[in-house]
Amino acid sequence: MESKIWLSSPHMGGGEMKYIQEAFEHNWVAPLGKNVDEFEIAIENFIGGDKYVGALSSGTAALHLALVQLGVGIDDEVICQSFTFSASANPIKYLGANPVFVDSDETNWNMSPIFLEQAIQDRIKKGKRPKAVIVVHLYGMPALMDDIMEICNRYEIPLVEDSAESLGSSYKGKMCGTFGEFAILSFNGNKIITTSGGGALVAGTKEQKNKTIFLSTQARDNAPHYQHSEIGYNYRLSNISAGIGRGQMEVLSDRVTQRRANHEFYKELFSGIDAVTVFSEANSDLYSNHWLTSITLNKNLTTKTNHDLMNAFAEKNIETRPLWKPMHLQPVFKDCPYYGEKIAEDLFDRGLCLPSGSNLTIDDKKRIKDVINNFQF
Ligand SMILES: *Cc1c(COP(=O)(O)O)cnc(C)c1O
Repeated sequence: MESKIWLSSPHMGGGEMKYIQEAFEHNWVAPLGKNVDEFEIAIENFIGGDKYVGALSSGTAALHLALVQLGVGIDDEVICQSFTFSASANPIKYLGANPVFVDSDETNWNMSPIFLEQAIQDRIKKGKRPKAVIVVHLYGMPALMDDIMEICNRYEIPLVEDSAESLGSSYKGKMCGTFGEFAILSFNGNKIITTSGGGALVAGTKEQKNKTIFLSTQARDNAPHYQHSEIGYNYRLSNISAGIGRGQMEVLSDRVTQRRANHEFYKELFSGIDAVTVFSEANSDLYSNHWLTSITLNKNLTTKTNHDLMNAFAEKNIETRPLWKPMHLQPVFKDCPYYGEKIAEDLFDRGLCLPSGSNLTIDDKKRIKDVINNFQF
């Protein structure tokens, strides 16, 4: 069997070990230290927009602390894009609040502004003003931010961006992760850059960043003894992991270029195959990092399913993955309200994520090409 081609695997830049070594030399083997500080600064510089970044143990933890700071509590409602990974919605439940799921726009794949407004109006009518909106930039594709921001501003509901998949993407030239009151980033092993595991909360003010660090380090009051006036969390990023992050930030721009080149490879590969549409930017307002290149099958032009194609790849030891199963279809969220017209469901039925690592080799691409060329669509 040939070696496995992964969907998206870690890709080190070369500088990581130097920073880890430094942490060992100074004995900062702890969830604080120079690597953590420098990693935060590197992210702040990269995304711009005068944002403040707190490095945390995961993207999920970051979302949890965003919702804590927005005052989300028991029996509150939070609107969340249905078409996403479960980590976008789970922190709502951590706080005893309830998600309200909103369907996607057909071409953009992210939250539909139309269904968002329907949801807000209906929840307000039912006496439940949503406490926050969580929008996701799925697979790196920026959401329809002008419309979504306008709606959130008009109803005065704070916006949280789940930018776990979209570091390096931008909307009208402004980086994803700089639009919301808060945004989250993830550095899990399969993301565009990784710290092995880690995340960050992007905040609009220095106070919010300080509060994030305070909450993530057990909410210790300013006193010589251990005193606590609030419930704290143990969510700070390790200085070792942050060393990996510093090395990865040095190559982030290259990683965006490489992932976008994968997308071009797939566009070319499928250019003569009408049964397949490669998910792409609809216009020049959108700039995706193309974290994962995804396709949909056109059911009018082929009887083959996404699972048939997935199996054909699996036979050659190539990993692919169905699109995210919408949250309103998940057993754990089956009782949550949903606003939409099954657009995400339809994408889930027809879609597939293709190998998209920035470390794909020419030989890997040849193997992928062979599978497609031998597949009877
Ligand atoms: C990866 C991911 C997360 C969670 O990030 P972790 O760092 O793994 O906790 C949240 N939302 C989306 C859309 C993701 O892809």
